[in-house]
Amino acid sequence: MAERIGFIGLGIMGKPMAKNLLKAGYEVTVYDIVGEPMEELVTDGAQRASSNKEVAENCEKIITMVPDSAESEMAILGPNGVLEGARSGSIVIDMSSIAPLVSQKIAAECAKKGVEMLDAPVSGGEPGAVNATLAIMVGGKQEIFDKCFDLMKTVGGNVVLTGDIGAGGITKLANQIIVAANIEALSEALVLAQKAGVDPEKVFNAIRGGLAGSTVMEAKGPMMLDRNFQAGFRIRLHQKDLRNVLQTGQELNVPLPVTALVQQMLGALINDGEADADHSAILHHLEGMAKVEVKRGG
Ligand code: NAD
Repeated sequence: MAERIGFIGLGIMGKPMAKNLLKAGYEVTVYDIVGEPMEELVTDGAQRASSNKEVAENCEKIITMVPDSAESEMAILGPNGVLEGARSGSIVIDMSSIAPLVSQKIAAECAKKGVEMLDAPVSGGEPGAVNATLAIMVGGKQEIFDKCFDLMKTVGGNVVLTGDIGAGGITKLANQIIVAANIEALSEALVLAQKAGVDPEKVFNAIRGGLAGSTVMEAKGPMMLDRNFQAGFRIRLHQKDLRNVLQTGQELNVPLPVTALVQQMLGALINDGEADADHSAILHHLEGMAKVEVKRGG
């Protein structure tokens, strides 16, 4: 009989991930506080639960994919949450990007009931979720990681245990520093080219194969040139990640000056009504300061 997996949080990332589990032959029970994405999953063969608790009553492995620390705490520890329905021996795999200290707190609460937990945030964006090529960075016990490896491999490509609970989140924060700084640098570069009267598309094509080339450049450069800022990864979620980075840096006394600067830019973009735009819209902030718009043809 196919293994039954619980999936909570069917947003940009969770919906395609849950669909990939169905395609791979898992039986999937889903829940989201919003009804509409559940309908779509049910059409694809998933079972609909009426609460996070009910998901956990029906499944021994439960994946959560919600926005931030508060939502993870609510979904797992809150009223009608996963922990109310979970049995001893069940495993919660929180794939949301949240503060590592909160992952440790949730895991400690789960442990009181004999429930195991992995923190397993992902990178690769919506395309990675759709194509099941996500990089998955995991914190937790080796034996629990081993038990969940095949499941995680179904929604991802590279699945790596980086340490104890919370280590997945620390790895994700490191990832988010690099992605944010890269998008900001790419934005500065294209704005400079535009104002200098050099076609930004030609600049992009000239440098993409050199040292400046990167996965971020390949993903976000075409979006900027197409003026397509549909999320992808929302500005408000990246601001949240950088807030978690800066809080963690403060706790550890690690200065993170560039991260702090980009986080301020993301805050300004939220004030400009861009909270739900893709993070490639960091370009707009640089364009606003330079009074220029990047476009093909220069
Ligand atoms: P999203 O806002 O599109 O989806 C989140 C979903 O969680 C929503 O459908 C929401 O209704 C649901 N939800 C919130 N609270 C809930 C609760 N208590 N119980 C059940 N469902 C609840 O966000 P997303 O883009 O899918 O991102 C999810 C997580 O993955 C975030 O932590 C994000 O930082 C991370 N992430 C996103 C991307 C990306 O490109 N979108 C890439 C890597 C990692």
